[in-house]
Amino acid sequence: MRFDLPTLYTVAILATAASSPMLLVAWWQNRKAATLAWWSGATLLLAVAAVVVVGRGVVPDAVSIVAGASLWLAAYGGMWCAARVFAGARPRLAVGSFGAVAWVMLWQLPAFRDSQELRLRAFSVLAVVILALTARVYARMPDLRSVSRGLTVGLLSFQAALYAVRIPFAAYFVFPVPADQVGIVFPLWTIALFLAADSMPFLVMAMVKDRVEIELRRDALRDPLTGIANRRAFFDRGERTLARMLADGHPVAVLMIDLDLFKRINDRLGHAAGDAALKLFCNGASALLRPSDLLARTGGEEFACLLPGANVADAVQIAERIRDWFAGQGPTIGTADPVSVSIGVAATGPRAHDLAALMECADRALYAAKANGRNRVEWISPERGIGSAAPAAAGRAPANLTMA
Ligand code: GH3
Ligand code: MG
Ligand code: MG
Repeated sequence: MRFDLPTLYTVAILATAASSPMLLVAWWQNRKAATLAWWSGATLLLAVAAVVVVGRGVVPDAVSIVAGASLWLAAYGGMWCAARVFAGARPRLAVGSFGAVAWVMLWQLPAFRDSQELRLRAFSVLAVVILALTARVYARMPDLRSVSRGLTVGLLSFQAALYAVRIPFAAYFVFPVPADQVGIVFPLWTIALFLAADSMPFLVMAMVKDRVEIELRRDALRDPLTGIANRRAFFDRGERTLARMLADGHPVAVLMIDLDLFKRINDRLGHAAGDAALKLFCNGASALLRPSDLLARTGGEEFACLLPGANVADAVQIAERIRDWFAGQGPTIGTADPVSVSIGVAATGPRAHDLAALMECADRALYAAKANGRNRVEWISPERGIGSAAPAAAGRAPANLTMA
């Protein structure tokens, strides 16, 4: 196989240059993803650098070597900045320019100017460092577990590896390549480098899309005010947990929680204070629960809590703990009036095996707690059978079940 290098360079450079406006359009459509604009700029810079480098003969040698290589390294530095922006960090352009600046400084040394092999090695070392650092930024992004991120890390590492190969074998990469010595290694190396580089924009856009999807999915399952699970998440995760626990023969309890006379807090202190009280309740209640418990906001000032492994007695203890803690929160909320919650408790029993039935049962207990004067925990025992339990059958938690 014979390669025509000018044709190869032209195709490679055009492909690189074409990705820049594509990234810009993607950024235009999603302005929050500034990384796309950074990648667009860096890709354009890479295309310009490639024109200057392969334009040796047309462009004066010194300009081609100094400007071409430093622009090339600046493009890689721009990609590092772009990765940092994606990771939510400051771009740090000054640090990103380190490779380009180092190149211009090295050019001041006569030994550097006189030895192409030395220059090839130095360029390769700088490129390896910047590409590896860029791969590292993407590798350390725990919030984005996606195939596109894995491929990005892989392709950046692959490009770094291609440059690393040139460090011991600089003699085989003399540039420009004499027409009768093109061979196969140099064209294949060039094709591999550009294929990897030209795949990056697609991966970058895929990562942005993956992150948007992850955020949408998270938002769909999260209550925006308090940050805890919403009703849908409670059913989604709750059903799965319940099925798993029942299959293993473990009990599961549900608390239905309603803040007492909450309208009064809003009316007297304002809606913002009401919002703050809701957040306070979520933070405080979460701190009293185990990580495996699931607290969700199911309505305005209504919450549901799934307690895997808890029977009625355990659940009543936990509910009492929450009730007792919240009853002392008036000063934090900013009111001299008493504040409180009512909680209804139900647990799995012989006839309770679905979440909706458990919730309905706990809801009846909650209704009883409200009817019996609020600031109370009421429960329905599994022995009585959840399906048949009526509000009247709900009982006040016996003293030996409540926390001291
Ligand atoms: P009860 O003890 O019977 O539950 O009385 P209540 O006042 O808590 O119940 P009610 O259903 O009459 O009022 C609930 C209030 O919760 C009314 C509404 O303004 C308030 N609320 C619901 N969602 C929010 C919210 O997101 N923020 C704020 N600040 N208030 C909310
Ligand atoms: Mg209420
Ligand atoms: Mg309510």
